[in-house]
Amino acid sequence: TTVVNRIAAGEIIHRPANALKELIENSLDAGSTQIQVVAKEGGLKLLQIQDNGHGIKKDDLGIVCERFTTSKLKKFEDLSKIVTYGFRGEALASISHVAHVTISTKTKDSKCAYKAMYADGKLTPPRPGQTADPKPCAGNDGTQITAEDLFYNIPTRRKALRSPSEEYNRVLDIVSRYAIHNSGVSFSCKKQGSMKAEVQTTSGASVIDNIRQIHGSSVSSELIYGERTFDSLDFKMQCYISNANYSVKRTTLLLFINNRSVDSMGIKRMIENVYSSLLPKGGHPFVYLSIEIKPENVDVNVHPTKQEVHFLNEEWTINSIQEVFKELLENANS
Ligand code: ADP
Ligand code: MG
Repeated sequence: TTVVNRIAAGEIIHRPANALKELIENSLDAGSTQIQVVAKEGGLKLLQIQDNGHGIKKDDLGIVCERFTTSKLKKFEDLSKIVTYGFRGEALASISHVAHVTISTKTKDSKCAYKAMYADGKLTPPRPGQTADPKPCAGNDGTQITAEDLFYNIPTRRKALRSPSEEYNRVLDIVSRYAIHNSGVSFSCKKQGSMKAEVQTTSGASVIDNIRQIHGSSVSSELIYGERTFDSLDFKMQCYISNANYSVKRTTLLLFINNRSVDSMGIKRMIENVYSSLLPKGGHPFVYLSIEIKPENVDVNVHPTKQEVHFLNEEWTINSIQEVFKELLENANS
């Protein structure tokens, strides 16, 4: 069953960046205001995330890497909300099947931190001859999770990956997205041993401050802000979209649905259409779009790894967003 579990885990965890996305979402779910990421060899050798969230109780450390262990499903009704994006307690388990995982964590009411290591979903001794129990250690409130030697046990998956520098670019992309969207949280991302962070934001900076920090003022100064609430469908959107006199090399869409970073081909195509008549050939828009929508109005019937989302009312939803974009662009021009 270990092999079966490993293959299943490899289906869920594809590369460092998508493991990291799950870890970041866990840190955010834990109420963190500081999230620091460190990577070595693009996250293949080492991927580490440190947060200052509520931590994991010592007694829970034995089971957090077991499949379907989640502290986020309290009632059965919660299931319909959780499955929208959640991994339903599969993320840590999957990572522990394809990497060496170490967790050190401290809750507020614990005197010290505890450290535990995992293999194939279970606690494992740090060294032969030692017990597998979590060991007391020094540490601040919050959680540090380290995944080392990703896919050491699935050589084919390992070979399918890009170079460390390309994998690192994907890591930076995912950190940047969450750093921009979460204005109450400071994020950093750097290579292990490096003094300089490639991404660095401060907590309390606004979304537009974060866009300026990460993409530069040449981009942020060309953005138009818009927001709209469609009461009838419990649908709310906020956006920053580039004006018609400005373009970037390729369409950049930072899309969030209920605070999760997702992809939508439908929205991307709509945006490219709206701008195609406005921008000179070869020019592309920059769009940040955050949507809040009732979970039951987003199509949930997708595999957990699928970043791509569909709306129950896809045409209406995308048309509504398009109307807002057109209006913003027209008003900016007049
Ligand atoms: P899920 O997020 O779907 O619950 P995961 O496998 O991602 O499943 O995480 C399992 C559980 O481990 C979470 O429900 C949570 O209780 C705990 N956990 C994981 N990461 C953190 C973290 N950074 N801080 C606090 N608790 C965490
Ligand atoms: Mg999770």
